[in-house]
Amino acid sequence: MDRIMTNRLDRGFERYQEEFEEAAIRVLRSGCYILGGELETFEKDYAAYMGSAYCAGCGNGLDALSLACRAIGISEGDEVIVQGNTFIASAMGISAAGGTPVFVEPDEYYQLDPAQIEPHISPKTKAVMVVHLYGQTARMDEIKAICDKHGLKLIEDCAQSHGAYAGTGLSGTIGDIGCFSFYPTKNLGCFGDGGAVITDSEEYYKRIKQLRNYGSSIRYHNEELGVNSRLDEIQAALLGVRLKHLKELNDERKAAAAVYDKGINNPGVLKPVCRAGADHVYHQYVIRCKERDALAEHLKSKGVDTIIHYPIPPHLSKAYAFLNIKEGSLPVTEEYAKSVLSIPMYNGISAEEQQRVIEAINEF
Ligand SMILES: *Cc1c(COP(=O)(O)O)cnc(C)c1O
Repeated sequence: MDRIMTNRLDRGFERYQEEFEEAAIRVLRSGCYILGGELETFEKDYAAYMGSAYCAGCGNGLDALSLACRAIGISEGDEVIVQGNTFIASAMGISAAGGTPVFVEPDEYYQLDPAQIEPHISPKTKAVMVVHLYGQTARMDEIKAICDKHGLKLIEDCAQSHGAYAGTGLSGTIGDIGCFSFYPTKNLGCFGDGGAVITDSEEYYKRIKQLRNYGSSIRYHNEELGVNSRLDEIQAALLGVRLKHLKELNDERKAAAAVYDKGINNPGVLKPVCRAGADHVYHQYVIRCKERDALAEHLKSKGVDTIIHYPIPPHLSKAYAFLNIKEGSLPVTEEYAKSVLSIPMYNGISAEEQQRVIEAINEF
């Protein structure tokens, strides 16, 4: 029997193959490959889809985060509160702007716990960064109210939550600025690297367009030290195809998650719970198990691949050793790192594949 991989990007391509190939060939024949009409169209369409005033494409999700941090004014010495259980890019986006991530504990849904914000506010705190981890939205009403009360900016890392509702709008539109990655495995993925920032602020939008282009708004007039971070024409055109199908792609993930919810029935395995009032677009389907490593081994022996998101929380990584945060200081985050396991979840996963995953989990 074939192995069941944690992700199958070929299935996502094959479904809309003709549309993707038409878009790619259109760009190849156009003679314009960078900062052209395809990007403008995608930026306009993505902003409209999101219900946001502006969208600026950029090179990847990390750049989206770091450019957003710079645009809202994070600089040397500023603190940004962020959850401890996240992909390290969330923290590195803050660091790249010169800021310092202040890690706090998540709630039982793996999202930033609003109750953790106020105790961690210091005179240096400038912003809060929410990560809608695994595709489930955080408690944005509460978090936004706390940010407003203390005059903090609110950044959303939506790299895993494209198209998920977060209360009054889609994730990315509740805070001051929303950051997206279009890395191929994401719910809205391209065929290489890509990213974007959305905002209602004309000021932030203009600043990001300048920063992404060597700090220049008028050619060869460089106002500040910028970077080179562009979403190229081919990726923009391919993303336009995927965007048209985003709702159906997310609905398919939700249906696949419901199959796991119903089928997985092992007292030693904790299934993901969607908070009442939250939306979940299942970028990952993450279970928890005390004997996580043994479960992963068992599944492997049954031909089912798994992956851990994430085995080392940023505060315990070598990259952040300079912050001197001791092991044991974020017990919930650290416990999650030891017990979470992501099982196969992708567009195009078959009923038979899911059944094999379910049986292998239940017999453990
Ligand atoms: C993927 C991801 C990023 C980074 O995106 P890249 O495009 O790989 O730079 C940032 N934050 C989270 C939560 C992610 O999952």
